[in-house]
Amino acid sequence: MKSFIQYSADTHFPIQNLPYGIFKPKPDGMPRAGVAIGDFILDLSVLEDKGMLKNSSSEKNLFNRSSLNLFMSRDKNVWKEIRSRLQSLLDENNPELRDNKELRQEAFIPMSDAIMCKPVEIGDYTDFYSSREHATNVGIMFRGKENALMPNWLHLPVGYHGRSSSIVISGTDIIRPKGQMKPADAETPVFGASKLMDFELEMGFFIGKGNELGTSISVEEAEEHIFGMVIVNDWSARDIQAWEYVPLGPFLGKNFATSISPWVVTLDALEPFRCSGPKPEFEPLPYLRSKGNKAFDIKLDVFIEAHGWPEPYKVSHSNFKFLYWSMAQQLAHHTVNGCNIQTGDLLASGTISGDTKESRGSMLELTWRGAEPIKLPNGEERKFINDGDTVIMSAYCEGDGYKIGFGEVSGKILPAKQ
Ligand code: MN
Repeated sequence: MKSFIQYSADTHFPIQNLPYGIFKPKPDGMPRAGVAIGDFILDLSVLEDKGMLKNSSSEKNLFNRSSLNLFMSRDKNVWKEIRSRLQSLLDENNPELRDNKELRQEAFIPMSDAIMCKPVEIGDYTDFYSSREHATNVGIMFRGKENALMPNWLHLPVGYHGRSSSIVISGTDIIRPKGQMKPADAETPVFGASKLMDFELEMGFFIGKGNELGTSISVEEAEEHIFGMVIVNDWSARDIQAWEYVPLGPFLGKNFATSISPWVVTLDALEPFRCSGPKPEFEPLPYLRSKGNKAFDIKLDVFIEAHGWPEPYKVSHSNFKFLYWSMAQQLAHHTVNGCNIQTGDLLASGTISGDTKESRGSMLELTWRGAEPIKLPNGEERKFINDGDTVIMSAYCEGDGYKIGFGEVSGKILPAKQ
């Protein structure tokens, strides 16, 4: 498959990918849906308006909208129809769009001119804790080696309900949170700006079709409900978290901000990168047992960039396939009690760490709570994230001569408000 649109072999957005996003073609333009192709965005509202995106959904206006929710709520066969139609329209051998200069002028927007918006109106946000290595590392630091992995962890995908109001699109500045914390040597808690600001390297998936309250989604049906995935940086204030988390879990140390990447990569695009995950310790209860490969080989990088540095410095390299619990198991578990999941809900993986030091997905683990600072080539070091630092996460699958990429999610930390 080759497109008439020119792009480098290195692009995250070849014709095999076609991730969906919401963008404004110029600052005062109206948001609408598009797909990324090379360095361009193909404006789906233009194609739809010209009657070029016929599909079996009764809805005529799926893309001239400020979110992908309506399109995501349609049947999976509508997703497939639109995807194959777009691949055909972009194919180098199809003259329909290729040779229509006027239409091309209208429908292709240089990515550098566009403003990306939050792609989905997110109803509920759930964050899992599905990396065994991450859970073990954090467990050792917070509770000691003997109690590192709680007794339930290998039996169910541990998670908590996060907050969707503070989910922001890549490029949004993050204000350092203030809160209550208790330094190790203090008798009583203190109030102030978090000193232990951290990132969490995660991936998240968006729900297409939901389930009725009181019903469940089985592990085998689960992927039918997944529209696509984004990169998630689940910012964390470790000092606030450590003091508040017993007995009910994460709260203000987590809910001040979560950043997501703008392009939603579909499971159809990720299909060639399906692979097996870690071997389970033992067989889980029947509702969590699944057949076939449910993991995906997605390479993940984290960089820190600061003023005066010649280039961003890579601090972590991990992989989505390291997760112990799959998305299908997470979704089956989430709904097994009859909880209803709805179109646009975001379910994130939890920090994705591997079994090597460089594959740890948070500063907490990379520096072992500050005990082993990261030494930078310019002589600086980092224990956690400083004011003015930008954290950049990138994700991609490596195919034979092409990549299926997610682009990146970035966020800069600003000083706490006075
Ligand atoms: Mn998290």
